[in-house]
Amino acid sequence: MRILITGAAGFLGSHLCDRLLGDGHDIIGVDNFITGSPDNIAHLANNEKFEFYKRDVSNYIFVPGQVDAILHFASPASPNPQSKSGYFNLPIQTMKAGALGTHNCLGVARREGSRFLLASTSEIYGDPEVHPQSENYPGNVDPIGERAVYDEAKRFAESVTMAYHRFHGVNTSIVRIFNTYGPRMDLEDGRALPNLLKQALLGQPLTVYGTGSQTRSFCFVDDLVDGIVKLLYSDEHLPVNIGNPVEMSVLEFAEAINRITGNPAGITFMENARSARDPQRRQPDISRAKEILNWEPKVDLDEGIRRTIPFFKQKLGLA
Ligand code: NAD
Ligand code: UDP
Repeated sequence: MRILITGAAGFLGSHLCDRLLGDGHDIIGVDNFITGSPDNIAHLANNEKFEFYKRDVSNYIFVPGQVDAILHFASPASPNPQSKSGYFNLPIQTMKAGALGTHNCLGVARREGSRFLLASTSEIYGDPEVHPQSENYPGNVDPIGERAVYDEAKRFAESVTMAYHRFHGVNTSIVRIFNTYGPRMDLEDGRALPNLLKQALLGQPLTVYGTGSQTRSFCFVDDLVDGIVKLLYSDEHLPVNIGNPVEMSVLEFAEAINRITGNPAGITFMENARSARDPQRRQPDISRAKEILNWEPKVDLDEGIRRTIPFFKQKLGLA
């Protein structure tokens, strides 16, 4: 296939480029580098099967030639208000990437007859009132809350994707991605893994926000990519959760990072700098992914962190 990947220079987009090139496809990468980095795709510069266009997907997208599939991953993704690349500080760009960007990609998919895959998120469940979250839970999102610029853009993106499927018959799919980590995350984007692993490798105390009793379920990037590619190759149209169902508190996560890295500096509890809407519990129900895609994660937290450390050490000049 000839596959268009938006957000190709980001964390997940660049891993998808590698995996799908490995599967023998031709890749067209698009990115405006608003939160991603050319470093993430530098190794593909001389690959004849990889083309790259620096473009903002919120504007009209023109890609010459046939496009068999589109993976729409372009969007700021970090919720940390203290980070320049977090969506709190890129609110309009975030809404445009989710709304206009998705609409533009669907337009290309309709014209080309492409399989379309939307990168949606566990954030569409907001601060969930049911646990774990399965795909039939409609979510608990405040449309004017601070996280809404991201959550509502993704909710609109899902709606417009289903509209193109139902009304225009476009071959669409939606993956709801839960917290994922691994090499090529931006060390400065303020998400939990980059902040905590960077601190641990520098021998600093880890900053746990609030009491750290809020929970997340962290998935290693290779597992996630495997699930996404299985969804791409399937003919499923309804949303599918992809994530690791092993739930832990943020405090347990920080303690695990200190243990794995051998960091003796401990933990510093900080006032939660985020809005009161920091979701309290999050865990994917992956029954659909298991049943439809025969997928489940294989990499546990210890192995995933160990596989992430070399990239962080290199970025920190510690390698
Ligand atoms: P990232 O910031 O590393 O990657 C996003 C990429 O999109 C960046 O390279 C950025 O420059 C690009 N981009 C943003 N707006 C753009 C625009 N208007 N035009 C062109 N390029 C644009 O983040 P990520 O973690 O790789 O996330 C990728 C996608 O996966 C996002 O859509 C995000 O919402 C979704 N997602 C990620 C996670 C996760 O845990 N990593 C969880 C849920 C959903
Ligand atoms: N968090 C933390 N310390 C940090 C960064 C994040 O305690 O230095 C917490 C944050 O409050 C949230 C969880 O870790 O409860 C996951 O945050 P992340 O930014 O990775 O993504 P989210 O799941 O909130 O979208």
